[in-house]
Amino acid sequence: MTDRRDFDALIERAKAAVRADAPRTTELLRRLVRIPSVNPKFLADPALNREADVQDLIEAELTATGFATSRSFPLEGRPNVVGRWTGDDVRSLAICGHVDVVPQGDEQLWSFPPFDAEIRDGRLYGRGSADMKAGLAAGLAACRALRELDVRLAGRLEFHSVVDEEAGGFGAMAVARESRGLGAVLLTEPSGGAIRPWAGGLEWVRVTVRGRAGHSARRFASIYPSDPAAATGPRSVNAIELGVRLLASLRDLETHWGVTKHFPGMPPGMNTISPGVMVAGCGEGPDGLPTLLANPAMVPDICVVDFDLKFLPNETSADIRREFETWIARFAASDPWLKDHPPEVRWQLADLHFPPVDTPVDHPLVAALSESVARSGRTPQIVGSLGVTDAAHYAPYGIAAVVFGPTGGAQHGPDEYVELSSVIETAETLVETILRYCGTA
Ligand SMILES: [Zn+2]
Repeated sequence: MTDRRDFDALIERAKAAVRADAPRTTELLRRLVRIPSVNPKFLADPALNREADVQDLIEAELTATGFATSRSFPLEGRPNVVGRWTGDDVRSLAICGHVDVVPQGDEQLWSFPPFDAEIRDGRLYGRGSADMKAGLAAGLAACRALRELDVRLAGRLEFHSVVDEEAGGFGAMAVARESRGLGAVLLTEPSGGAIRPWAGGLEWVRVTVRGRAGHSARRFASIYPSDPAAATGPRSVNAIELGVRLLASLRDLETHWGVTKHFPGMPPGMNTISPGVMVAGCGEGPDGLPTLLANPAMVPDICVVDFDLKFLPNETSADIRREFETWIARFAASDPWLKDHPPEVRWQLADLHFPPVDTPVDHPLVAALSESVARSGRTPQIVGSLGVTDAAHYAPYGIAAVVFGPTGGAQHGPDEYVELSSVIETAETLVETILRYCGTA
C-alpha cells in the first residue's frame, strides 16, 4: 500500500475520473432504462420482458472494463451476469444490482412514456430509473474509473447483475450460493444516500382453518346447542368465523411483538403480521383452497389466510416460526372445536423466504462507506431498510451486505425518477469505498 497521502490523492483522482465521465454514465443509464425489463412473473410480454438484453449491455460494459464475466440461468431464459477482477478473498467485495423492474402500470398516469428515459430539471424519469438501473450505472461508473486509472485492488472486486429481485430474488439467491468466500456485498438500491446495513426478515405464511360444512338453515343448532330443536343432526362449524377469531388473535400477537421487541435503527413496531389474502368457502381442492365460492347457503368448512410477516434484523426465522406456531396452538387449545382440529400452518409460500440482514455497524464496509460519505461533506446516515432487498439472500452465507445508493422517488409508481446528480455522487462514494475496503495491491 502506498502511503497515506498518495492514497488520498488516488481517491481524489478516481472521483475526478467519475465526474469527468458523468455524461457517459448518464447516457448508459438512459440506455438501460430504454430496455424494458419487466419481471415476467408480473406481466408476460416478450416486448417488455427484456432482462436478457439489459444483461447483454451490462456484460459488454464489464468486459470493456476488464472483468472476466460469466453467466448463469437461475430461471429459464433469464441470465445473471457476474464479473470478476482478480484479488484476495479477505477484502473481496461485490457490487450488486438487479435488472428487472416492476410493470409500468397505467401509462396515462405518466408525464412521459415510462421507457423513454426523459430528463427534466436534473431528473431522469422512467420505470426502473431509481429502482435500480441508476445503481447499476453508478456501480459500473465506479469500476470504469478504477480501470481508467489502472488501479490494482488487493481484494477481489466482483459485479453481480441479477434478475428477479422484484419477485422473490431467485437471481441473487443463485449468485449468493455460488459466492462462498466473498467478504461483502454492496447493493446499490436507491437509499437516498443512506447506509443501510440492516433489514428485517420476511416470511409468507398460510394458515388454514377447517370447520364442518352444513346447511345454513341449521346454523341455529351451532349457536343455540341446548335448544331441543338443535338436538338432532350434526352441527356445522363455520370456518369463516373461526378465521375471523384467528385474525383477531394474531392481531394481539402483532401488538405484543410491537411493544415488547425492538431493534435500534428500525422504527418500533415494524415487525408486523399483515393478512394479505383471505379466501373461504366449501370443499377443499387439491391446491388447498376452497372449491365452492358461490353459495352462502353452505356453512363454509375452510378458511385460508395468507400473511406477510416481518421480523427484526436480530431475530431468526426459526425463532419467529416457533413463536407464531406456539401462539396459534395456544389459541386453538382454547376452542372446543379447534383443540381437536388445529389450524394448519404452511411456511415459505411461493418459495418466498427473506432472511434478515444484520451487518455489524463496525463492519469494514460500513466504516468505508461512512468515511467516504463524511469526506464528501455529508453526514453519514446509518439506518435499517423497511423493505426487503437482495441483501437478504447473501446474509445466510455469511456475506456482509449493505445497501447504499442514489436518490429517487415514485418507485413502483407512475413518474418514477432518479436525481441525476445523486447518481454521480453515488458513483464517487462507491469508487472511494471500493478503494478503502479492497485496498490497493
Ligand atoms: Zn430494487
